Amino acid sequence: MKLTFLGAAGEVTGSQHLLETAELRLLLDCGLFQGRRSETYAKNRQFACNPPKLDAVFLSHAHIDHCGNLPGLYKAGYRGPIYCTRATDDVASVMLLDSARIQEEDAEYVATRLGPEAPPAAPLYTEADARQVSKLFEPLDENEWHKLSPALSVRLSDSGHILGSAITELDIEDGGERKRVVFSGDVGRRGMPLLRNPSTVERADVLICECTYGDRVHPPLPDLKAELLRILLDAERQGGRVVIPAFSLGRTQQIVYLLNHLYQEGKLPRLPVFVDSPLAMRITDLHREHSDQFDGTARHTLKTDDDLFAFEGLHYVRDRRESQSLNFRKGPFVVIAAGGMCENGRVRHHLKHAVADKRNTVLLIGYQAEHTLGRRLQERRETVKIFDRILPLQCRVEKLDGLSAHGDVQDLQWWIGEMAKTGGVGQCFLVHGEPHVATKFAQLIENDCDEPPVIPQWGEAFEV
Ligand SMILES: [Zn+2]
Repeated sequence: MKLTFLGAAGEVTGSQHLLETAELRLLLDCGLFQGRRSETYAKNRQFACNPPKLDAVFLSHAHIDHCGNLPGLYKAGYRGPIYCTRATDDVASVMLLDSARIQEEDAEYVATRLGPEAPPAAPLYTEADARQVSKLFEPLDENEWHKLSPALSVRLSDSGHILGSAITELDIEDGGERKRVVFSGDVGRRGMPLLRNPSTVERADVLICECTYGDRVHPPLPDLKAELLRILLDAERQGGRVVIPAFSLGRTQQIVYLLNHLYQEGKLPRLPVFVDSPLAMRITDLHREHSDQFDGTARHTLKTDDDLFAFEGLHYVRDRRESQSLNFRKGPFVVIAAGGMCENGRVRHHLKHAVADKRNTVLLIGYQAEHTLGRRLQERRETVKIFDRILPLQCRVEKLDGLSAHGDVQDLQWWIGEMAKTGGVGQCFLVHGEPHVATKFAQLIENDCDEPPVIPQWGEAFEV
């Protein structure tokens, strides 16, 4: 059996791994490389996996760095099945349409900016490609083995990362030998609100494991609700608005879920709360439809509260006009808007109207990468540039740590350790991590694996 790493090797985006036997060619994930357009465009357009010749794709979850190039794969000729959980089928379909719209807008922007002399800027893929590829999804029930062919069975179990996220176990026969190949996808954090803890699996002859936070311990989960409440009470006293930049998938639902808890407990101050992201609204609906995926606490709450994402005073903003009207609304109120690092999405408009007033608060709830507006807010620069305006940063900037969707080094070590304790780990490949992080993590898990863990480079192939 041959395993080739075609993405998320020594980096954190573009997850894509090819597994080949004498009879089968299988692809694990088909993510989009993200970053500067000039660096990623060519990488995203070319497929080293020969799409028409693939037999099946296994999709771990609906984040764009894992599923975002599936429409490209379709465009390049793939027509086989894409196996995933039921929730991932639904969520990825919505995410891919949104991604296609962004690709089309991006191509249009490049064309207008560069003028008629510019080379034609084709979108990576279109909404039509996204719609077509969604028809190839073959949802599977979790926690049970599915025999896909005499030589191939699969079992998906919850990885606790986002709604629908899965750990993929493949039982593959090649040359009379059966092997268990396990792909971690992204492993979530234990004890997070709403989501279940990651499932453990019993053994892996070959393990492909993510290590995004393989060098870092997250701060202990603080009392998130108490911290959130303090920030809202402060805002109410100040009479200002609270702007919460949030990714539409996952983070928005978790914040709304915590606010709903506070409301149910009678603690939430009487502030209007607006969720301003059409994508987040659609994904929230999908959370409602897949409530069987929630953790015990959330499912228990559902017995007395039939909607965990709605409470008096919460309003989902439907159109642009309504979104714009919030800019002139008097405080106090809360607005949760896309996107998470303030680089795009409606949140930039809300920030433009908030940062210069000291009564207002920006609440950051996720990782803010370098060179993003979110990072500049986090660093409390004296001024920030939003669209083309330089504005004084006068508002409060608060940070709510602990909502990371990725497990930290302790979660990952626990997950691999459980496998080592039961059936064992043969060969381990570490992906989805910066090189220095993967190197550190490899040392930590060396004793859990039969062979020293490998950190593959892009394009590297291994006989397994
Ligand atoms: Zn992910």
